Amino acid sequence: MKKSKVITVGNVKIGGGNPTTIQSMTNTKTKDHQGTIKQIKALEDVGCELVRVAVSDYEDALALKKIKENITIPLIVDIQFDHKLALMAAENGADCIRINPGNIGSELKVKEVVEACKFYDIPIRIGVNSGSISKRIIDKYAGVNKNSLVASALEEIETLEKNNFFNTKVSIKASDPRMNIDSNILFREKCDYPLHLGVTEAGGLLRGSIKSAIGIGTLLYMGIGDTIRVSLSDNPLEEIKVAKQILQSLNLRTFGVEIVSCPTCARTDIDLIKMVAELENRIDEIKGNYKIAVMGCVVNGPGEAREADYGITGKNKEGIIFKKGKIIDRVPEKDLINRLIEIINLED
Ligand code: SF4
Repeated sequence: MKKSKVITVGNVKIGGGNPTTIQSMTNTKTKDHQGTIKQIKALEDVGCELVRVAVSDYEDALALKKIKENITIPLIVDIQFDHKLALMAAENGADCIRINPGNIGSELKVKEVVEACKFYDIPIRIGVNSGSISKRIIDKYAGVNKNSLVASALEEIETLEKNNFFNTKVSIKASDPRMNIDSNILFREKCDYPLHLGVTEAGGLLRGSIKSAIGIGTLLYMGIGDTIRVSLSDNPLEEIKVAKQILQSLNLRTFGVEIVSCPTCARTDIDLIKMVAELENRIDEIKGNYKIAVMGCVVNGPGEAREADYGITGKNKEGIIFKKGKIIDRVPEKDLINRLIEIINLED
């Protein structure tokens, strides 16, 4: 797939084969700058690399300055209609403005926003989604579909380009993962601006994660997409965990330890489900990027998981630790996780 153009948001390069970055969006009131800063820091701690906040009024726009001063990741500011808020956001330190020129109103207002973004050297993200296509475009393309989504995005791009603005990134999101995939493929065939991927209104943790894994992951596998946001009706911190899993599953990024485990069956000889949960909880204690297998039986476990760096299994309350499929230690089952972590950190 042809490489996208590169843009820079704060200190993060997006597009052109740079690592696919992870974004999220705060759900605190932006004018509550302390609450918003706290949430952004929590997001940063779990691996969020760019954060978006919504600005709906003057107080929100004013709070941006304090927020920006207290965070280290780039700040993307989401504006719906009011071009004055976009101007304030640019002035108050936004690293990127998410706004659709078609929503701003007059050409003069679009020009003012574009000139501010040029002056502060910040990109604009155009965001088109299946719920916000104009009636005119829906009628022209016979409904909400990949053609109407892409036409909306291209129309917004044209407005910016008419103002000699090319520092743009684009998102085209549908709540239907198939439409999401088809639209982004079509867009990429026509245009090389970097793409922010996401499935909109994806749902709660389980359904939203699955839809996102399909809607985002399929595109990433095809080499399409430069930055991602998993949208969940849940704590934004969960979005980062899921996004990391998507990227790590496709070998696009590595985020420390990866745990693989067998599904359990009648041969399972250890309390596997509890062990996986304990290992997940203690994952931060392990230094390095290892693949660790938790397998239910000695007969099949070490062999099946021989591609893992380390693994654990057991039989009759005896815990077994293996490395690349070969048994390296035996301890009581209750001490298995402690000993595994000790061995890995000693060898690191
Ligand atoms: S590793 Fe053993 S316990 Fe786990 S599913 Fe395979 S056969 Fe069953």
